[in-house]
Amino acid sequence: MRYAPSDLPVFTLTTGPVDAYPAVLRSLAATVLYDYDPVFQATYQRVAEKLATVVKAETMPVILHGEPVLGLEAAAASLLGPGDVMLNLVSGVYSKGFEGWAARSGAEIVELAVPYDQVIDPAEVARVLAERPDITVVAACHHDTPSGTVNPVAEIGAVVKRHGALFLVDAVSSFGGMPVDAESAAIDLLVTGPNKCLGCPPGLSILGVSNRAWAKMKANPAAPRASILSILDWQEAWRADRPFPFTPSISEINGLEAAIDLYLAEGPSKVWARHALTAAACRAGLKAMGLAIWPAEEAFASPTCTAVRTPQGIDEAQLRAEIRARYGVVLSSGRGETLGKLTRIGHMGPTAQPLHAIVALSALGGGLSALGHRVDIGAGVAAALAVIEAG
Ligand SMILES: *Cc1c(COP(=O)(O)O)cnc(C)c1O
Repeated sequence: MRYAPSDLPVFTLTTGPVDAYPAVLRSLAATVLYDYDPVFQATYQRVAEKLATVVKAETMPVILHGEPVLGLEAAAASLLGPGDVMLNLVSGVYSKGFEGWAARSGAEIVELAVPYDQVIDPAEVARVLAERPDITVVAACHHDTPSGTVNPVAEIGAVVKRHGALFLVDAVSSFGGMPVDAESAAIDLLVTGPNKCLGCPPGLSILGVSNRAWAKMKANPAAPRASILSILDWQEAWRADRPFPFTPSISEINGLEAAIDLYLAEGPSKVWARHALTAAACRAGLKAMGLAIWPAEEAFASPTCTAVRTPQGIDEAQLRAEIRARYGVVLSSGRGETLGKLTRIGHMGPTAQPLHAIVALSALGGGLSALGHRVDIGAGVAAALAVIEAG
């Protein structure tokens, strides 16, 4: 049997957009209220208050009404100006991409880069900061999704704090799927969104802001005001008695509330554990099938995404097309520099369930075998099951 491109997929095991939780989908279907209706205003404040308990920034979280690229671009525009020197920690496509938005502010950019299958060494960050005491902001990507690698942000945060610079972190594809919050990693501006590990559709950005970051943005004459890129305009918007700068995404807020409720009811550490177990099962299965993960060391591998190196002689796009056609399973490609070199299996939100690793391994193994790269799918499934049973 074959699934036509027009058939809906059976399993969407991607790294974003991800499958959304059924409870989120139901909430998205709620009545669209006027933004100044007291019911919606109360909802907005309640969502911000719930978010605050998990983002753990010094001040109330800011919600911006566009998918997380809005939050990242707004962060660069608000925090940086011509007088700044920003150290950009580049370990992949997203961290490199941040440079473009940062440079637009007129800030000088200093780069510390590693190959895209490696992670940033906090000692190297300390070395660069010692060489350049004029660095005012350090930017990092926690989980650089197109490589499936995770940087040690808590250790880097401690180094940045000692130096006195502000720490800006893209935690879009890590937040909600592994332990990270503004407090534990000393993050001054944490940017995330509900559309990866929280299991919502794309449409919102979530920012955790420290007192120092607010002070810096307020002192920055270039920080956007009366603009879709403004963070400052939204500082007080979480309060039910304050106006919105413009219309918030009503339905997305309802969806986000359902997602946080699920996250809090299950308990963050339980949620992180099932992400980690799914990824561990996936990696064990790949190994048993003779396949290699993209990260240079298993310790670098993300619990929310497993990047599989494309075997020699296999066309990666053709592999995913084959998997979609044979099994109705959708996997993610690489991006930019990693495009064509790896395939990504997402373990995010509802798909971070151990049995999804079995689905991914079977589909990947079947697709590879169909293209002439024979792998022992049974051995992969058995190895993954063993990890699941021990977990
Ligand atoms: C998904 C993601 C973003 C948001 O970008 P998209 O347009 O949704 O791809 C930003 N940073 C990271 C690390 C992400 O994984």
